[in-house]
Amino acid sequence: MIDGWIRRRVFWYLRREVVAEWGARKIGRCNRCGRCCRGCPAFDVKGMRCRIYSRRPEICKAFPLVPMDIAGVESCGYDFGPEVGTGLREI
Ligand code: SF4
Ligand code: SF4
Repeated sequence: MIDGWIRRRVFWYLRREVVAEWGARKIGRCNRCGRCCRGCPAFDVKGMRCRIYSRRPEICKAFPLVPMDIAGVESCGYDFGPEVGTGLREI
C-alpha cells in the first residue's frame, strides 16, 4: 500500500532511531508469504519470489520496521516483543 510505502521511508530516512529500537524487539522470521512485496516491480508473483533478492535494498531486509507495517498481516512470520515503556507502541 502506498501509505505504508511512504511511512516506511519516513521512518527509514528520518527516524532511524525508532527503527533501531523496534528492530531490537523483532522476533520471528520471514516465511516468504510475499505480502510485503506485492506491487513491487521486482516481485515475481507467479514464483512468489523477489527477482533481486540477493541485491534487495536494505529497507527490504529490515521489514517490518515498526508494528504498523504488519498490523493485520496475519501471514507475516515476524512480530515485535513487548513494549518496555517508551511509548513506541503507538506507532
Ligand atoms: S524484497 Fe524484493 S520484491 Fe520485495 S519489496 Fe524489496 S525489492 Fe521488492
Ligand atoms: S510479510 Fe513478513 S513473512 Fe511475508 S514476505 Fe514480508 S517479511 Fe516475509
